[in-house]
Amino acid sequence: MKILLANPETSRSKYDYAGIIDDEPYELECLSAYLLDKGIETVIWDGQMDKNFWGIFRRENPDYVYFCGRTRQENFIKEYCGVCKSGNKSSVKEVVTIVGGIHAQCCPHRFFTDDVDYVVTTFDPKAVYDIIEGNTDSWGSSVPGYIPGNGSNPETINGEEYWHGKVSPSLPFDIKKMPRADRSNFYKYGARYCYLELRPCAIIRTAFCCPYSCSFCYRNRLNCGKYTSRDIADVVDEIESIDCENIYIIDDDFLVGTERLEKFVSLIKAKNIRKKFVCFGRADFIVKHPDIIKELAEIGFYYILTGLEYIENRRLSDTNKRSGVNTNGRAIKILHDSGIHMMGMFITDLDFKKKDFKNLYRWIKHFKLKHVAVSIYTPEMCLENFEEYRDRLVTEDPSEWDYLHVVAKPTHLSVKKYYFYYHLLLIKLFLRAKRQGIYDFMDYKAFIMSFVKNLFRFGG
Ligand code: SF4
Repeated sequence: MKILLANPETSRSKYDYAGIIDDEPYELECLSAYLLDKGIETVIWDGQMDKNFWGIFRRENPDYVYFCGRTRQENFIKEYCGVCKSGNKSSVKEVVTIVGGIHAQCCPHRFFTDDVDYVVTTFDPKAVYDIIEGNTDSWGSSVPGYIPGNGSNPETINGEEYWHGKVSPSLPFDIKKMPRADRSNFYKYGARYCYLELRPCAIIRTAFCCPYSCSFCYRNRLNCGKYTSRDIADVVDEIESIDCENIYIIDDDFLVGTERLEKFVSLIKAKNIRKKFVCFGRADFIVKHPDIIKELAEIGFYYILTGLEYIENRRLSDTNKRSGVNTNGRAIKILHDSGIHMMGMFITDLDFKKKDFKNLYRWIKHFKLKHVAVSIYTPEMCLENFEEYRDRLVTEDPSEWDYLHVVAKPTHLSVKKYYFYYHLLLIKLFLRAKRQGIYDFMDYKAFIMSFVKNLFRFGG
């Protein structure tokens, strides 16, 4: 039995972060390790590194293909499921298509199409093994809500169209049971996996879910909303074993639990591990625990990615961020003083006016924040408030759920004007970054030209 584990490309335009931030397909590497241990042959295909899905599909001739991805990859996943089904017509072999990963976990119904046989809605790798072993009798099947594809017709019962496939039980999974990633794919592509100038950069996950509940975010819904974390000694052992000097901890929030972090610091020191680290961490934790931040800086923490989100307390409290503007400012200073770079992440809300874009730039400049990422507010398909935006949607194309597109009509500006001010902000931030030399590893000219084009492509 052979399974192809596939992570489609995130975009087919240049409007993404390819080559700047490229994550190794860690989820697939853990699943691969689990299945290899069960005697199943696995092959990983990462669409960010190799664009030729058809080539690998034909060469490997798998029995099963498993796809994972986020909302913006939905179209590509469906397209490749179609390739698996139609591309194999000349063969007697029937390929089984499985879709899992974050988007399938949050919005399984998006994959009820002709070309998809199973949707996996749990992090538990056993669900995929159950499919291969034929142990899915107890799974939910004949789910209503069929989405037409390009294959056979759905079953129609009492006038309602039913999808032919099966959905795994949606159950929380204890991350302690997840095997360590099989990193052969990571070593194959070497320096192409990166986080900005940290090249190569390996990924590790130490927890599922997030214990907070910011209203715009779906990460706290993953794993059925259950936060679960690995034993920190096991995490440090794995970090020691990775042949890479840069480690990106992709937990939605790594700065959780002072005891756990103190143990992490002491184990890294005891083992004399010398690497650079990237992680996500909240501003309120940074402000409450400057001593831990100092220790993290000492052991090599290089970037902390912090969701500052807004520069007004009203917006922070409306979204249940449980942080404030003063806290955000203090967190920037604490990280700067400790020598850690903060990657400050902001959201431009749909009710932004011209002055809000300007104020955001001024605020960033005032706090001397060098590294900045600005997302356009994007209503998540799996959250309750999505219905409030349904009438305002200006696109239904999931590829645009990349936080760089306006997907719902802004309140005070036209879509074109909104894009114009958004890209103007990006250009100002990027020129500032150029003056500070922080992205010297990138081709500034190409990026600035693309932002300028976007000013007019979207804006006029
Ligand atoms: S924004 Fe960050 S802290 Fe808030 S719920 Fe999402 S992951 Fe957690």
